[in-house]
Parts: sequence; structure tokens; C-alpha cells
Amino acid sequence: MFNVEHIRKDFPILNRQVNGKPLVYLDNAATSQTPQQVIDVIVDYYSNYNANIHRGVHSLSQEATDAYEQARLKIQKHVNAKFSHEIIFTSGTTHGINLIANGFASLLEQGDEIIVSALEHHSNIVPWQMLCERTGAELKVIPMNLEGELIMSEYDKLLTPNTKLVFVNHISNALGTINPIEYIIEQAHQVGAAVLVDGAQACPHIKPDVQALDVDFYVTSAHKMCGPTGQGMLYGKEAWLNKLPPYQGGGEMIAEVSFEKTTYADLPHKFEAGTPNICGGIAFGAAIDYMNAIGFDAIETYEHQLLAYATIKLSEIEGLKIYGTSKHKTSVISFNLEGIHPYDIGTILDKLGIAVRTGHHCAQPIMNFFNIPGTVRASFAFYNSKAEVDALVAGVKKAKMMLS
Ligand SMILES: *Cc1c(COP(=O)(O)O)cnc(C)c1O
Repeated sequence: MFNVEHIRKDFPILNRQVNGKPLVYLDNAATSQTPQQVIDVIVDYYSNYNANIHRGVHSLSQEATDAYEQARLKIQKHVNAKFSHEIIFTSGTTHGINLIANGFASLLEQGDEIIVSALEHHSNIVPWQMLCERTGAELKVIPMNLEGELIMSEYDKLLTPNTKLVFVNHISNALGTINPIEYIIEQAHQVGAAVLVDGAQACPHIKPDVQALDVDFYVTSAHKMCGPTGQGMLYGKEAWLNKLPPYQGGGEMIAEVSFEKTTYADLPHKFEAGTPNICGGIAFGAAIDYMNAIGFDAIETYEHQLLAYATIKLSEIEGLKIYGTSKHKTSVISFNLEGIHPYDIGTILDKLGIAVRTGHHCAQPIMNFFNIPGTVRASFAFYNSKAEVDALVAGVKKAKMMLS
């Protein structure tokens, strides 16, 4: 049984006050909060078995290696990858994307095309622009409509035999739109293109099945799904990961080294140069355990109720406009009050202890599309309550009164 009051007790930070008011944390799309169960795993690691992995014969190193590899298996199971060596530990989504972009640099040539979507995060645009500069490939963009949905008929027109890679986020961080990635992947494969999906906003809400999706690469970050910052994972199909060159050189990623020639280690180590964030990987596994114990079906149902309630309540405020109105969206509400800068609303909300994000949300092209400088973004997690939605609505009303 899903009980939000019970769940909230797992998060010590939710007890604190901000500016003399109880914290109302609604910036979950930027980073999520961490439950005691995950904090305990981090403390346990540094208190009891902190050691470097895959190297030492001593007991601590064995324990750390076992826990780290156990975490890889948890992630494999969670996303339903065929092999555990298809899971590469990264420092986060940005790292995973750059790893793939770097790998494709050696596969692309002049005349090749890469497709991205108009709904992308900057970390999904800049690496591809850099890749195009390096290779002479061309970048094409799937446009969106006023609801904040990608236009699939336009996508169909962009696909050609020259398309080598399609890159799209599973869920938009700025608007919450859930993109039709099943269709996008299927169509890309028709022309022989690979697909990389950015799951940073999806994994806090749903459980991806990489085999059912038949996706070539899928990346995500731990810190948006109750895990630590500086930790993430890249899933890649075995054949693709074998084909791509390593990203960074260093320890752990080699088989044999001489000054004449170095051979690379097998997957996954080929892509894991240097000492990784060992504790981060283990804590990522713990975060996945925590969320699975609550259950992604329950999380989805509850967050949907919160989204519906917040949408109705906020829409009642005169002059408030919501951006991103797709029927297929997660618990993110981006909005503005007529004639008021989003930053001013965010500042007043903070005085009331309410944390929201204001600005362009690392997605300036989306803001340009709507012709606005930015929005106020409230993003809800499964540990947010209806009372917190009420606090937000009251706060926005107060900000409106003070600022207009
Ligand atoms: C947060 C986010 C990223 C970047 O994640 P990092 O953990 O900062 O690397 C990329 N894409 C989307 C959709 C995001 O929401």
C-alpha cells in the first residue's frame, strides 16, 4: 500500500526548515532527495569497506568489488539488459552522452546526418554540435508543436539513408512530455540508424525495458532517482559497445600495455578508465532497490494524481499559463504569470520555504520556441504531498499579489 506520510519519514531532509518555514521541495527534476536507506549504504561503505576495486587481493578490496559488481547486476536487471557487461558506470547522463558522441566521431563522415529533438537538454545538443564540427556530419532537429510534443510526421521526413544516429530524451526535463520513443526507435532502425535515448527524466518515474524498446544506447543519472550525484549509467548493446573505441585511456581499461601497442580490456572495463565513484555505484544500486520496493506502478499512479491535482489548482489562478500540455507527461509543471518574471516568483516562493526551479532549465531552444525568457518549474516526486501542492498554489497567489 502506497502511503506518502510513511514514505516521507524515509527522507530526513524533508524535516528541515527553510527561511523559518517547513521545506516544500519541488525541484525534483533537477535533483531528487535521498532516503535514509541510501544514506546508510554510503555511510556503511566509508565506515567499513572503503577500498579500490578489481585490483587488490585483500579482503576490503574484494568486498568493495563485490558490492560494486552487485550494483551493476541490479541496474542490469532493472533496465532488463541482456548482459551485465552492457552496463557501463558513468559519472552521469552527460558523461554517457559524451562517451557515445566521442565514439561516433570515428564512425561518421561528411554527408552523414544526426537527428536530435527540439525538446533537448543542453547536454543533448552541445556534444552533437561538437561531433558535427569534428566530422562534417549535419545536425537535424525534430520540431515540436504548441503542446510541447514532437511532430512525428516531420521526424519521418528527416530520416534518410544518411541518418546515422538519432538522439532524443525519453522525457523532457523542461516540460515533462513523454516522447514516443518506441516509434522513434523503430523508424530509425528502418534506415539503419542507431538510437541513443536520454533517460535522465524518465528513470525517476518509470522502469525502462531496453530489450523491449530495442534501443541501442540508454543513459541516465542516479541523482534524479534517489541516488547520489556524480553517478550514472550507460546501457549499450554489446555489438555497439564492441564497435566503439574507448573514451578515456587509463588504468582499468587495458588488457596489455607496452609503448608499442596497448590492447583494451573487455566490456565493461574498456569504458571504465581510472578509479570510479565506487561508493556512488553501490549507492545507485541501493536507490534502485529503494524505488523498486515502493514500486514503479504505485509511483506512477500517485504522481499522476498529484500532477492532475496541481494542474487544476494552478490553472484556477488568473493569468497563469502552463507550458507543456501534452496528455503524455510526467509530474512536471512549467508555468508563468502574465507580466511577471519567473525569477521574481521563484524568489518569493523561496522565502516561503518552497523550492522550485526558475529559468531556461538548460533548454533555451524550448524557451525561444515559446518566446519567453524562462518559466517557473515545479516538479513533483512520489514523496511530495497534496498539502505541498496547496502550499505551492497559495505561494503563487501570494507572489502574484505582491508583484502585480
Ligand atoms: C538532468 C538531465 C541531464 C543531465 O544530467 P547530469 O546528471 O547533469 O549529467 C541530461 N538530460 C536530461 C533530460 C536531464 O534531465
